[in-house]
Amino acid sequence: MADNRVVQGRMVTPEALAELIEGEDVMDAEAISETDRECPDCGGDVLEVGYMPSVTEFVTGWKCQDCDWADTDRD
Ligand SMILES: [Zn+2]
Repeated sequence: MADNRVVQGRMVTPEALAELIEGEDVMDAEAISETDRECPDCGGDVLEVGYMPSVTEFVTGWKCQDCDWADTDRD
């Protein structure tokens, strides 16, 4: 449970955070980590999570804790 973080007022697990970023179910997610990044939309704190949307893909995703902004390392 220590991996959980509050995002937009809700406690989320790594998998739930990855699903917010991806917009659909993911297969697996690593622990959530904090970053030095600032949200470009609201200036809020940005969390990072690595996850597998499918067996063949690994994505690093970022999500603002305060608003809907999210990004990934996909091209
Ligand atoms: Zn934000």
